[in-house]
Amino acid sequence: MAGQPGSVNPKTASDLELPTPGPLKATIGRAVMEGATDIHIDAWEDKAALRFRVDGLVHHKETLTYAQTKKIINQIKVSADLDIEATLTPLEGQFRYAREDDVRDIRVSIIPTAPRHQSVHLRLLSSAKDWIHAEELGFRDSDREHIDHVLQSPHGLILISGPTGSGKTTTLHALTETQDLKNQVAASIEDPAEFEMPFVRQLEVNEKRGITMSEGLRTLLRMDADMLLIGEIRDRESASIAAQAALAGRLVLATVHGRDVAGAIEAIHYLDVPYYILGGALRMVISQNLVRRLCENCRKERPLHGFEAELFDSEKVTSPDSVYDASGCATCSKYGYRGRTGVFEVAILDDELGLWLADGPRQQEIRQRFLDEGVRSLRVHALEKVAEGTTSIQEVYRFFGAGVGRKPIDDSLVDPLEGVMQTNPDVQ
Ligand SMILES: [Zn+2]
Repeated sequence: MAGQPGSVNPKTASDLELPTPGPLKATIGRAVMEGATDIHIDAWEDKAALRFRVDGLVHHKETLTYAQTKKIINQIKVSADLDIEATLTPLEGQFRYAREDDVRDIRVSIIPTAPRHQSVHLRLLSSAKDWIHAEELGFRDSDREHIDHVLQSPHGLILISGPTGSGKTTTLHALTETQDLKNQVAASIEDPAEFEMPFVRQLEVNEKRGITMSEGLRTLLRMDADMLLIGEIRDRESASIAAQAALAGRLVLATVHGRDVAGAIEAIHYLDVPYYILGGALRMVISQNLVRRLCENCRKERPLHGFEAELFDSEKVTSPDSVYDASGCATCSKYGYRGRTGVFEVAILDDELGLWLADGPRQQEIRQRFLDEGVRSLRVHALEKVAEGTTSIQEVYRFFGAGVGRKPIDDSLVDPLEGVMQTNPDVQ
């Protein structure tokens, strides 16, 4: 097990001015307390909306007056060493927020918006405190055992898939941390590197400086890497290098965009990696997403409705007698949820499955084969987490749509889109 990783991205280690006490510092303090990852300020007419993204969802916090908006934007510009007078050009910068022992690097983007407004996005970058260990990701115990078993033999390709914002990078890092990193050469190529990992040679993609993902991968392999981490495979060359390196005896952990286990395999195949290579290289595919974790302080227990029991039955998950709904209290800043947990679909490819894949089955056959092998879907895992009281059934509807099972008879009982605007396109 490696030690606690250090702080974020070297780029964030700026010595720029801290925000002085005032509305900006108060707003960031509130965002940090609520667990927000992003702050948005969007002006219209003579006011502006202040919104936070918390656990992947955007929440309107308050409407700012013209004077408040101007003051806060000016404070952001001063803190990030940007030109206060520049209101007609896009600006980017960074500053550091510090309050007691909480230190955050904050990335700033400001753009001019019509007719003569400015819109602001502040990204609160992850701090070392946010590092998640493998046991906290939310795997089932049985899946975790299988994963540990696969990771014990140090070769082959492991894919971690999910849509943007599904926590793939976190899983990549947490699984890496379970390896004996002191006694092997581990290297990563990321875009960008979110966390600093001890004993890992971390290369960042920087196309302006000629570091493309595929060039970076070749360089790292030439530098004697035993273990490669790739976040994320998007191009043919990188996909091919990753698969070949795995076949040649390296351990390769890579993230890829895909909606389930079969989708992840298809995604790599679409990048022209033939099935006969994939069948030999691929050892495990983990597909994932994140659901919000109910606040244990205020969640409300209630009996399961009939239509909900049918949903559990249709997915062959034992239905609980009762489930919990979100409520809201001071602990969770009235969100009813606090943090997120992963839901996973884990497929292990043994020799037999590898040979079968090498034969080039059709897409639909891949999905069916994994079902037949007993791979449990993301939806099943989400329902298991509802049954254990970790998340709400509303979260299942939010992810998988009201088309899952039957629609609720009484719309007032379940509003799957309550408070939802959109999921974050940026957070990995
Ligand atoms: Zn609460």
